[in-house]
Amino acid sequence: MITKTSKTARTSIKVPSKPAEKTNVYRNVVRQFNKAADLMGLDPDIRKILSMTNNEIIVHFPVKMDEGGVEMFTGYRVQHNNVLGPYKGGLRYHPAVDIDEVRALATWMTWKAAIVHIPYGGAKGGIQIDPSSYSFTEIERITRRFTYALGNNIGPEYDIPAPDVNTNSQIMAWILDTYLMTMPANERQRCIHVVTGKPLEAGGSVGRDKATGQGIVFSIEKWAEDHGFSLDGASYMVQGFGNVGSWSARLLKPYGSRLIAVEDVTGAIFNKAGIDPDNLASYAKESGGISGYPHAASIDHRTFLSTSADIFIPAALENQITEETAPFLNVKLVAEGANGPTDPDGDLILEKKGIDIIPDVLCNSGGVIVSYFEWLQNKRSEFWELDEVDSKLRHKIIGAYERVHGRVNDYETDWRTAAYIIALSRLEKVYKERGIFP
Ligand code: NAD
Repeated sequence: MITKTSKTARTSIKVPSKPAEKTNVYRNVVRQFNKAADLMGLDPDIRKILSMTNNEIIVHFPVKMDEGGVEMFTGYRVQHNNVLGPYKGGLRYHPAVDIDEVRALATWMTWKAAIVHIPYGGAKGGIQIDPSSYSFTEIERITRRFTYALGNNIGPEYDIPAPDVNTNSQIMAWILDTYLMTMPANERQRCIHVVTGKPLEAGGSVGRDKATGQGIVFSIEKWAEDHGFSLDGASYMVQGFGNVGSWSARLLKPYGSRLIAVEDVTGAIFNKAGIDPDNLASYAKESGGISGYPHAASIDHRTFLSTSADIFIPAALENQITEETAPFLNVKLVAEGANGPTDPDGDLILEKKGIDIIPDVLCNSGGVIVSYFEWLQNKRSEFWELDEVDSKLRHKIIGAYERVHGRVNDYETDWRTAAYIIALSRLEKVYKERGIFP
């Protein structure tokens, strides 16, 4: 076995000490898909096509460890569909990454891009790894070797990775550099859009870091407006305090809303008077998690789930709101920051309880929308200001929100199914126009 290097040498990447219990998340995708396909009467041939992923790449690759010796790693990239544009989706470093999880996440990416009208297909990938067990330099070599192993399965006009759980702009910079080093020297400059979510200096976009949280907050604002609900004085709780959770929490604060409960992999905390999300974000960055935050009481998972609040933003992992946990929820709105946080049984319970849901494929689409903006800026050698990025993001996500609302009314169905119907109708139309080769 490999001896790991000291904690101080590690990246700031946080990882669960114990992975969430594994359930087959791809089964959820299939159930959600079938419900929408049945309701809209999706063409049976298109249904066959969209029920399967296009490509599933599994790579095993060796990496030299700091203390000598080699460890083998398993990486995945699943490309679900690219009829609307290049494959697009994040890379996750987590012990629970497996082929079914990546299939599910890739499929959701196809729907998401179609719902928000951006010219991308869906993909996702990752490495089955607990990154907290590896040093900064080991994570760099693992990332570079994974990129090399993927080879031409990714590319700026073909399949464009981005950050996801336990990956960040630093990891995107290593992928970019490794990919470019495999290109002929005279082609490198026109390929920096091979990844999005890059650091600004390496070709990233302003506003990408907060984009998913910003999109969630724009969606919540729209929901509040439509329901005549004042966000000023409203209470909210957040599960997961990484990129998506912390940005959502911080961006909701200026509306006068009060963050009262937070959970991450290190524990859960509560303060009825309000937790300052900016202060908590600094604390979590320093200490590697929210546990021990001095201005809130520590609570257990069940108490966290039962918190009485107006808005719940799940922004951690999938399958958090299920038949077992949904009965505890005591909120008006679930704004899904994570991908797949609510399973189909959880959905039914929330519906019975009269809890509104802004589904993941709409609510967390800010990340892929601003990734698209980054990609466009790279292709055009442009650099947009933050105001421009934010106002274009708002326009895209509010437009999608209104389209989904329209389908909810047309089909008298729930928001998730309505969102799927938009995606499936669009994909069906394109397949019918183009036909099936040969
Ligand atoms: P991240 O790695 O930055 O943060 C993940 C957070 O979840 C951490 O705070 C971690 O402690 C917490 N967590 C992990 N397991 C947990 C558990 N069992 N219980 C409670 N908390 C737990 O990841 P992220 O980029 O913020 O992604 C979070 C979710 O949002 C994922 O579902 C991801 O697919 C989705 N998402 C991310 C983006 C993006 O732009 N990063 C875009 C769309 C959707």
